[in-house]
Amino acid sequence: MKRIVLLSLSLILCGLLLSGCALQTFLETGSWTRTAAAEGQDVIEFLNTPEPEPTPASANPPAQGATGTAATVLDPVDPLDPVDPMTGDPTPDEQPDPNRPMIALTFDDGPNNTYTMALLDILEKHGVPATFFVLANAIHEDNHNVLQRMVDMDCEIGIHGWTHERMTKYSGGENADRIQRTQQEIDESIEGGYISHLVRPPYGSMNDNARAGARYAETALILWSVDTLDWKTQNTEKIVKVVKKEVENGSIILFHDRFRTTLEAVDELIPWLQEQGYDLVTVTELLESSGQPLEYGKVYRYKKIV
Ligand code: ZN
Repeated sequence: MKRIVLLSLSLILCGLLLSGCALQTFLETGSWTRTAAAEGQDVIEFLNTPEPEPTPASANPPAQGATGTAATVLDPVDPLDPVDPMTGDPTPDEQPDPNRPMIALTFDDGPNNTYTMALLDILEKHGVPATFFVLANAIHEDNHNVLQRMVDMDCEIGIHGWTHERMTKYSGGENADRIQRTQQEIDESIEGGYISHLVRPPYGSMNDNARAGARYAETALILWSVDTLDWKTQNTEKIVKVVKKEVENGSIILFHDRFRTTLEAVDELIPWLQEQGYDLVTVTELLESSGQPLEYGKVYRYKKIV
């Protein structure tokens, strides 16, 4: 009788183990998918309005547990969203607290041999990251160390372009090729490689060809919600004033790392922004903290507050 009981218990244990393995396999393979925005899918333009329209919670299932890759999205039918797929534990809080107000500082047109390193010094002094949208034709062997330092400081590198030309001049295929060549240029500059999934179109110029190129090259298009006009005014006080007036939770702020006045303004603004309670994060951190993973070919101007 004892042997029968023991045998039964062993069979039950084996069954439990097998179903556990199956569940683990499902969690590892079935609940995570890499997707790019499908051809013809509607492009979501997050319009630059002071109060973004709230989106029904059901339309945007929270992507807790996303690990930071732009294409990682949760299967919407997976009922185990809030659970870490590897451990079964509640999702670890790797991302910045999504409930805190946050913004992203962004810098275009670099790397600049005069100012980018000095800007990195300022960011390091204040202990905050930023996102740099770089030009392939500004990257040279003698400034690979600047890009490397960005990555080492947990900054994000995005693509501004192969050159500073409007993407609207080119076909979808040409845009994809120019983005991919810039991706490669950045990748080869960084120890261990670095594939950027963000593109900021020069002048903010966009059309279907720009979107198609970005989608094919597996990148999202990033605009801005606060334009400091630093290139135009080159006036520290005016740059600071614009940001203080226009910044709000979810802002993406546009600067250019090629003016002394911009660096002075940033040095003054970071402590002020922190005093206002803002977390300064990268663009990907900002956008993914809303629970909506970045989608390739789509256009983002700020974090949509849901
Ligand atoms: Zn530019």
